[in-house]
Amino acid sequence: MLISVVLPCYNEEKVLTLTYSELSAQMKKITDDYEMIFVDDGSRDNTRALLKQFAEGDSHVRYISFSRNFGKESAMLAGLRYASGDFTVIMDSDLQHPPELIAQMLEYGRQGYDQVIAQRNRDGDKMLGSFFARTYYRLVDRLTDVELTDGIGDFRMLSRKALNALLTMNEYNRFSKGLFSWIGFKEKIIKYQNRSRAAGESKWSFRSLVRYGMDGVLSFNNKPLRFCIFIGTFAIIISLLYVMFLFFGIIFKGIDLPGYFTTIFTICFFGGVQLISLGIVGEYVGRIYYEVKGRPHYLIDETNFKQKDSL
Ligand code: UDP
Ligand code: MG
Repeated sequence: MLISVVLPCYNEEKVLTLTYSELSAQMKKITDDYEMIFVDDGSRDNTRALLKQFAEGDSHVRYISFSRNFGKESAMLAGLRYASGDFTVIMDSDLQHPPELIAQMLEYGRQGYDQVIAQRNRDGDKMLGSFFARTYYRLVDRLTDVELTDGIGDFRMLSRKALNALLTMNEYNRFSKGLFSWIGFKEKIIKYQNRSRAAGESKWSFRSLVRYGMDGVLSFNNKPLRFCIFIGTFAIIISLLYVMFLFFGIIFKGIDLPGYFTTIFTICFFGGVQLISLGIVGEYVGRIYYEVKGRPHYLIDETNFKQKDSL
């Protein structure tokens, strides 16, 4: 039984050697039939050179190196497409996802679970950050059709069946957390203690988190569009009531000119509502635009896999 481990890496030279040795040690304890697929997501440091060096001395090491940075989602997709294991583990390359857990995941995999998901607690996270994260998950959970849980990330093991299902989804805007949840199958959640990165720094800025957050909401349904319809209907009802109020005022009290305040308020408020609605529609149109272009998710510059024609 072959186990594949997929590790996206972007500028991880500081931690990669440690990750490689710890992961190898853990895998050797479990089985000799494993492959480690490192996906170098267009790193600008020594990551690629390190990977080549690992690959020379170890036949378990596979690497795929992108032509530029395509983002973690694309890196994971590449790794998953090339993985040929009966079970495939996805994990970060900064040792925030403890390799010791793989043995336990595999245990559940053998028992027939298709997705074994590692859930971390938030110990040691910055207070503000974890507050935002929790609120976000609660919000997204309500806003989308898929179920998202706090502390659940990309660290998980997929059976061949689950992986094949995942790979049938070819969308350009990938939001893995949602995709994993969307495919379903028999799931098992195991918990682990949160860890900070072994070395190097996080690639997430506040801006990229906000962008990612929007992706999460927008890529899984059209509820924001419904929300526009809802707001619009609400505005029409309110304005009809107000017009009736004014109308009866005119009938009983005659025409009365002042109304500057209400006019300005209405113009500004509905101007804002219209712009927001247009923005939401625009977000979806933009996504459609990208999907329609059908560009590849990534371009491979170098790899020690035999290139598959279609990828
Ligand atoms: N990563 C990647 N491409 C990117 C950004 C990140 O492949 O454009 C990888 C990175 O090397 C790491 C994982 O994604 O293995 C998680 O990134 P990071 O540790 O920066 O995120 P955090 O753990 O802070 O959420
Ligand atoms: Mg990390």
